[in-house]
Amino acid sequence: MIKKIISIRGMHDYLPYELKIWQKTEKILKKIFKNYGYYEIRLPILERTELFNRSIGNVTDIIEKEMYTFYDKSKKNITLRPEATASCSRAYIENNLEKNIQQRFWYYGPMFRYERPQKGRYRQFYQFGCEVYGLNTKEIELELIILLNRCWKSLKIDKKIFLEINSIGTIQSREKYKIDLVKFLISNKKKLDKESKIKLYKNPLRILDTKNKLTQKLLINSPNLLDYLDNNSKNYFKKLCKSLNKFKIPYKINNNLVRGLDYYNDIVFEWKSNNKKFSSQNTICAGGRYDNLIKTLGGNSSVPALGFAIGMERLIYIINNEKSFFIKNLETDIYIISNLNKKSIYHIKFAENIRNIFNNLRIVQDFNVGSIKKKITRSKKFNSKVTIIISYSQKNKKIFQIKYFNSSIIKVLDFDKIVKELQNYFNKLYGKFI
Ligand code: ATP
Ligand code: MG
Repeated sequence: MIKKIISIRGMHDYLPYELKIWQKTEKILKKIFKNYGYYEIRLPILERTELFNRSIGNVTDIIEKEMYTFYDKSKKNITLRPEATASCSRAYIENNLEKNIQQRFWYYGPMFRYERPQKGRYRQFYQFGCEVYGLNTKEIELELIILLNRCWKSLKIDKKIFLEINSIGTIQSREKYKIDLVKFLISNKKKLDKESKIKLYKNPLRILDTKNKLTQKLLINSPNLLDYLDNNSKNYFKKLCKSLNKFKIPYKINNNLVRGLDYYNDIVFEWKSNNKKFSSQNTICAGGRYDNLIKTLGGNSSVPALGFAIGMERLIYIINNEKSFFIKNLETDIYIISNLNKKSIYHIKFAENIRNIFNNLRIVQDFNVGSIKKKITRSKKFNSKVTIIISYSQKNKKIFQIKYFNSSIIKVLDFDKIVKELQNYFNKLYGKFI
């Protein structure tokens, strides 16, 4: 036997049945983004490696070990995008979008990270994200959080996740903080886990969001980043928290929330699941302000920016777990059966005519061999709401019949009457749509 070819580790097929939940979720999210005035932007999946090296930060998990980087045929160093904020900002600069009146964007697509695959962590995964440019008033953070809150409510998972926010201040205030944090950690080095010991000299801030319980305990007594923020950052954060209270949006301040990417400043936030099964893959949405990124990528230094990304696989997992939506497996509106050995062109034309009239419906024509009886059984397996059967009398006259799901009654009708009958039936079922 020839050996089967299987997919690459951490990269999966998304099959029609599971995609029903995905499509419903995508529709809800896109509708909400539109409702807040966001426009779609589509970005390349491959970018120059330099884009990510320059933006994400050298001492981050993504840059150090997770990038799919290779040389193309003309020896250009390119990378499968691990995230899309850098690409969106590159596109913003390259296309001069600063001159656009429209500064709110959303994107959707696959991202690639060479990670250890496990539940909720894959090598190809999908992100929905929003990015906003040109605004530096806290109202826009508030709007993003309100928008996301609306998403969770519409997806019926708002009770299953919680919001954590923090302010990481400016780069300058973080530098001061870093010195004191490292001092503290060195004096407690023996108690640090192995990974944190490595981070201590490379990127000590990343120790703050360690998943190691003992290190977490140790950090309770470490210096607090909030004490190092300048007055601007402190006020900005305070005002945002106040506004969230006014909108009755629950949140927790988590001083150890620092985010994995280096380009953030001031407000950062994450939505996490409270489901224990998720362990360290419990963040479903993460975002924050990144006022320095446009400048870092060669754009205008005065363009502030912020955004978020939602991890779709983790979101869908929660939606499935909560059974937020009831989705039927296989569903067909009209199933057309005939003996194709006879006048097959006519039968295909018939199906085309039905599709011309009912162009919103799922209409399947049976092309299998076998008796009409067998085909009726297959139609049932397709969960067809209506089956149309075309047969011939002994005098070779066409007979049109229709049969409804869960009814054994077969009605004999001519073509015009079939159309009328089906219009009545589907209008009642789906509301007027033709
Ligand atoms: P984590 O700490 O879980 O690795 P991250 O900080 O690396 O997350 P971000 O870069 O902020 O993640 O990406 C935003 C969201 O994308 C995450 O909150 C998560 O929902 C999702 N995500 C990130 N990496 C993966 C992955 N490898 N597989 C599936 N989803 C992912
Ligand atoms: Mg990660």
